[in-house]
Amino acid sequence: MTNPHASPSLGTLVFYSKFDDFGIWKRALQSQLPALRVVQADEVGNPEHIHYALVWKPPAGFFQPMTQLKLIVNLGAGVDSLASRDDLPAHVPITRISDPNMARMMAGYVLFATLRHARDIPYFEAAQRRGEWAYRHPRNPGDIRVAVLGLGELGAMAASELQRQGLTVLGWSRSPRRIEGVQCHAGLDALNAVLSQADILVVMLPLTADTNGLLDRARLQRLPHGAAVINVARGAVVDQLALTELLQSGHIGSATLDVFEREPLPSGDPLWSMPNVLITPHLASVAIPASAAKQIADNLVRVSNGGAPASQVDLRRGY
Ligand code: NDP
Repeated sequence: MTNPHASPSLGTLVFYSKFDDFGIWKRALQSQLPALRVVQADEVGNPEHIHYALVWKPPAGFFQPMTQLKLIVNLGAGVDSLASRDDLPAHVPITRISDPNMARMMAGYVLFATLRHARDIPYFEAAQRRGEWAYRHPRNPGDIRVAVLGLGELGAMAASELQRQGLTVLGWSRSPRRIEGVQCHAGLDALNAVLSQADILVVMLPLTADTNGLLDRARLQRLPHGAAVINVARGAVVDQLALTELLQSGHIGSATLDVFEREPLPSGDPLWSMPNVLITPHLASVAIPASAAKQIADNLVRVSNGGAPASQVDLRRGY
């Protein structure tokens, strides 16, 4: 079967990431677009011959010499590190990875973390360490209220998966959303009411000027006593010091944290040694070359044909 994107002159894509494997991405992209030249940042040659950039946190000034750049693809779903830069070339569209498999991987993590709290697993882990058979009767899933903040590509799938478990799921976003089985709320005015009902809070908001520090001490105190917090979004959305102190006081009962204000989380941070906190090193979901390459290829073809790419980032709103 011939490749729909096979074309003689697509141009050159430059790849930059310290976390992702160049060879795997190159193969994935060229399996979609055999005519695409794919190079690493240190083999660019003449930067004026670069047409597309697939990047995760490139150094300052990276794009400046690329005068023919037509598209910047953020190698991930969260675009805060790009959107906050002041060296972006004007008029070059930015897109994000939009891949159902990435959303599925995130939903898997959120499901695991939520059910861990809903099924009191941290309580049983502590009892096991004491060598104690500590029976605690399971709660009815429908009596457990889970609030998902952010109902985007990742948040919406996670919320759907959670409600399929029989949990009572509330969702919150900027503009009104409809997700079957999920009680959706929108806008800042609705946030406190959502928080006050959240036995388990799942943070899935992008980091923007509006969400930076959104979950401050006062808002975290709105959570019911003993609530669990899961943050898979960005550390800076939550006041980490307030979260730590509320975990120490017991107002927040437990937390699963994949993201932090500073990453790696510095050694000696009190969160490391708190028995009611589970820490993972920012990997709730990652871009999967084999499936994400298709969406990237479609966008490259669109742009090379003079069209607008899909999944474009709106720099004014920050996501
Ligand atoms: P989207 O951009 O698709 O959706 C963002 C959601 O947040 C939308 O529902 C949006 O509202 C809502 N939102 C944005 N700003 C506000 C606000 N001020 N008030 C209320 N709601 C707001 O994001 P994704 O679902 O794809 O991803 C979410 C985040 O997950 C990413 O931005 C990234 O930071 C993080 N992430 C973390 C990973 C990890 O491994 N830990 C991996 C991948 C992503 P509306 O629907 O109205 O637009």
